[in-house]
Amino acid sequence: MKTVIISNRLPVKIIEENNEYTLIPSEGGLATGLGDVYKSGNSIWIGWPGIEVPEERQEEVTQKLAALNLYPVYLTQNEINLYYEGFSNEVLWPVFHYLVTYAHYEQSYWDCYRSVNEKFAKSAIQVLSRRDKIWIQDYQLLLLPGILREKLPNATIGFFQHIPFPSYEIFRLIPWREELLNGLIGADLIGFHTYDDVRHFISTATRLLPVNSSSNILSSNERQIVVEAFPMGIDFDKFSGLTATEEVKKEINYFRAGKEGMKVILSIDRLDYSKGILERLKALELLLQLHPEYIGKIELFMIVVPSRDTVPQYSELRDQIDQFVGNLNARYRSVNWIPVNYFYRSFPIEVLSALYATADICLVTPMRDGMNLVSKEYVASRNNNDGVLILSEMAGASKELTDAVIVNPNNLGDIMEAIVTALKMSPSEQQMRMKAMRTIVQKFNVKHWVNNFILRLNEVKDSQKSLLT
Ligand code: UDP
Repeated sequence: MKTVIISNRLPVKIIEENNEYTLIPSEGGLATGLGDVYKSGNSIWIGWPGIEVPEERQEEVTQKLAALNLYPVYLTQNEINLYYEGFSNEVLWPVFHYLVTYAHYEQSYWDCYRSVNEKFAKSAIQVLSRRDKIWIQDYQLLLLPGILREKLPNATIGFFQHIPFPSYEIFRLIPWREELLNGLIGADLIGFHTYDDVRHFISTATRLLPVNSSSNILSSNERQIVVEAFPMGIDFDKFSGLTATEEVKKEINYFRAGKEGMKVILSIDRLDYSKGILERLKALELLLQLHPEYIGKIELFMIVVPSRDTVPQYSELRDQIDQFVGNLNARYRSVNWIPVNYFYRSFPIEVLSALYATADICLVTPMRDGMNLVSKEYVASRNNNDGVLILSEMAGASKELTDAVIVNPNNLGDIMEAIVTALKMSPSEQQMRMKAMRTIVQKFNVKHWVNNFILRLNEVKDSQKSLLT
């Protein structure tokens, strides 16, 4: 009996150079958390390798991946455009983040989403054995639990969604809403980051499908589906340990040089309209207008990691950020100070770690976020128990990190006040809050998350069996 993880992307990057394919293991949270499971030899991971591989080279790449217990689902450019960039990122992503005006309900996106989910099922069935546990990840594969259930009625299937699940009023806007829900309830256990997502899913399912619910259990045609919250954690030890390495210490010294007395505010996001990047900049502008005493005393380090910038909405957002930062800096800068140090690029983890360790304040203000790992990484990096986290109440993490300064990301005055509060916060209050948050992030780490989900999946299946006997 093995565990089969299925996600859109495999936890590996394939690079093609001089006609040679090289595999680089990915460092993402999911890969780290599941690392122990899938490297144990008793598990495999199925997913898209991330690049288009020509048919005649696929066998070679498949062989290389097999050595790492990874099994590829090859996608054509057309499938990537319609299933991934189309349906996943232009329908599900905006709607699930409550930004419904960004959605494009294209029939061709949907048709391809369905056929690619079937393609994943086909690949899975080739390697699945009867008693395997299947764990499907995220919104690109909402139909997969249902397709697999039809083919393998007794399979053990878990599903976890990493982004929010919206309320019924939002979800019902999607033209293919029943099909999506029917896909999801093919699972035995459905997990979300927060209890609010669980509630939204249950009320949506009971209003749109012929299912009944009793607390967090749905009943459909004699089958029971358990829906629960599993807030995802990070690799606490990795982030906490990194700050003591020589490489990171060097970076920390480099950042601190010449900044005595300067308060550093950090923000790190992927380029996305759900992250509230412009609102954050506007709050900083407000602060400089209403509290000129901070001019020359605070600096925002803003990292925006390039993402989906071939999509017009994303490139427009990028232009707006460029413009805003340019104007703000031009207006407030002096010869040896600028308010916003803006980077549109990604950084190695050592640099991120040094920034987390250096920043006096971490400013995380998404309009909507399933969890938000940056906030947890900041907390894990604060080995001295100092620093202040400002966190949007719309991020899943705010349910656990209640000792952050919590803000409504739409309320610019609220964000501005939070920054002032953070700048004035006494060292003892910082310590008290940070210690409490570190205890939570350390305990509910990513390994805890993985073990908890798998344990619960086993329990759910066992209780189904005992109901039948
Ligand atoms: N990150 C990264 N490179 C960077 C900046 C950030 O790999 O240059 C990582 C960061 O450490 C975090 C992730 O990107 O683990 C962002 O996760 P989060 O949940 O905050 O947002 P998402 O991008 O998943 O919506």
